[in-house]
Amino acid sequence: MQTQEYEFLIGRRDQYSQRTLKAILDGDLEGSIISTWRLLYIESKDFLNLIDNREGYFNVHIVDELGHRFEEIDTRQLHKLRMARNVFDKGNEVTDTPTWDLVTSGLKIVAMIIEQKTEEISELSHEEIQTSIISGVCPNCKKDWEGYDECEWCGFTLGVDFD
Ligand SMILES: [Zn+2]
Repeated sequence: MQTQEYEFLIGRRDQYSQRTLKAILDGDLEGSIISTWRLLYIESKDFLNLIDNREGYFNVHIVDELGHRFEEIDTRQLHKLRMARNVFDKGNEVTDTPTWDLVTSGLKIVAMIIEQKTEEISELSHEEIQTSIISGVCPNCKKDWEGYDECEWCGFTLGVDFD
């Protein structure tokens, strides 16, 4: 993989990004596919406001919803990533031999989601951000704010001028 395809993961503190980065740097295709899917799942669920009902087709639903949200993406690639992950994670039968392209495609969407979230956050006022942080909630992903300058979950950072 090209460095620029995964470099946005560097410096993100959440365990899913870190695991993905480690697997890529280790050249571990299986680990990269599993963790890229996991990261995509976490980010998409939050971004698209979907609730996992634990009924069979939720992962298919996520990919389809991403296709509605981002017209430019190739959902066939994402379905291949999803199926490749099922092969490793659930022991499903192999249909296509997994490749690094699948990891690249998945990460491209993760990067798009993060970018989109960053744009949405920039529309929040200083006051809204401050109120959210004081109440211990990340203004971006709404998870617990742990008291660093950066959200441990989504990587949202406070601007240098923030105090
Ligand atoms: Zn956050």
